[in-house]
Amino acid sequence: MTKTTNLANKVEKQLPAELVNFMWVAGRVAASQGQSLYLVGGVVRDLLLGKPNFDLDLVVEGNAIELARKLAEIKPGEITTHPLFNTAKLKWNNWSVDFATARSETYAKPGALPTVTPSSIKADLFRRDFTINAMAIYLNPRRYGKLIDLYEGRKDLEQKLIRILHKKSFTDDATRIWRGLRYEQRLDFQLEETTLKLLKQDLTMLDTISGDRIRYELECVFQEPEPEKVLHRAEELGVLSKLHPSLKGNSWLEDKFKAARKQTSPNLPPFGLYMALWTYHLSTEESEQLISYLRLPKTVAQALRDSSAIKAKLEILTYPELSHSNIYRLLHGFSPSAIIANSLTTTSPIAHQHLETFLHELHYVKPALNGNDLIRLGIAPGPQIKEILERLYEARLNGKVTSKQDEEELVKGWVDNKE
Ligand code: ATP
Repeated sequence: MTKTTNLANKVEKQLPAELVNFMWVAGRVAASQGQSLYLVGGVVRDLLLGKPNFDLDLVVEGNAIELARKLAEIKPGEITTHPLFNTAKLKWNNWSVDFATARSETYAKPGALPTVTPSSIKADLFRRDFTINAMAIYLNPRRYGKLIDLYEGRKDLEQKLIRILHKKSFTDDATRIWRGLRYEQRLDFQLEETTLKLLKQDLTMLDTISGDRIRYELECVFQEPEPEKVLHRAEELGVLSKLHPSLKGNSWLEDKFKAARKQTSPNLPPFGLYMALWTYHLSTEESEQLISYLRLPKTVAQALRDSSAIKAKLEILTYPELSHSNIYRLLHGFSPSAIIANSLTTTSPIAHQHLETFLHELHYVKPALNGNDLIRLGIAPGPQIKEILERLYEARLNGKVTSKQDEEELVKGWVDNKE
């Protein structure tokens, strides 16, 4: 049986009606401007796999901005354009569609950003990372829904293979190494034999990639449902040690990542928490190397630094007799990700309990009275206000007072005792 190469039915069935309607109109408008319009990349791959994906990437043989502008006149929404790249984005309600002008790319040297020239859909598909991501669907009315599969992407999808399009692919752009591992693990596919051989051979090309671009790849890895699988494979293939020789992707990490997801569910753990767990066994110096190479954002860098600071306090946190105010003093001011990371990694049940108590209770404790209330109660403005507020904090933390009235009585008692 020959497989249908017209995917109009799949598009209709799997995508929301509003997007289907939009693409139909966009194809007609493109045709009226003498341009050709295609749906490309991940959404085509996921349509064939039957997986939900509503991130529409459209490629225009012609001028993407011109087409997007015309469509923005028909459909009320917000348009953003990037004339330098000849791309545009249209947003309306909850939808967002990207338009790009078909282009070919050449790489002056490995790892450099490509030189881009307007081109045909064929060249645009050839510049892509893997065959499964290099398919397109024609959207002009003449052959609406026709699958353009120049590099046997559909066959690779069926055989569950991740295959690069040409031998120089990883040399041109070694971020594709990380991308390949991500798709392999997400889809439960395999790197095709030659692709795997070249990936191993081109590992040194990772040195040509800036820390910023690797950080972006890691951010994408941590958006995956099970990033530990990608890190495990990265360790196995020697990709991790190119980033840092001390990084691991082992079963310890798998346990911690799973526990982190449980803790933050229904949200995914933030980047800082995943990073704090991943780098937990690194020395301070090694963590600093990663922070500066990857140029980690301030909050993420703080999570890593706080995590090692808390690690250094874990011994004290194993004392069962610590009062709430003791625990508060030890932990307050640290990033929540760093506290969660330590709570998930400590082998001491008592330290774990103290860290959890801080996270779920003490973190939120605040006296009901403020400085103005104290003045109203007859305390003269001055350094004693701060002192009393601190004592109130302590009383609140240790459960000696639980209401505003309790606090007022306590303060009055202190004042009376002084008089
Ligand atoms: P995801 O499901 O992870 O969102 P996607 O396929 O939509 O995957 P994007 O990162 O949004 O991936 O990129 C869109 C498309 O651009 C990809 O499908 C691929 O064809 C192409 N692409 C992205 N990055 C590269 C790269 N480094 N080299 C070549 N092609 C790339």
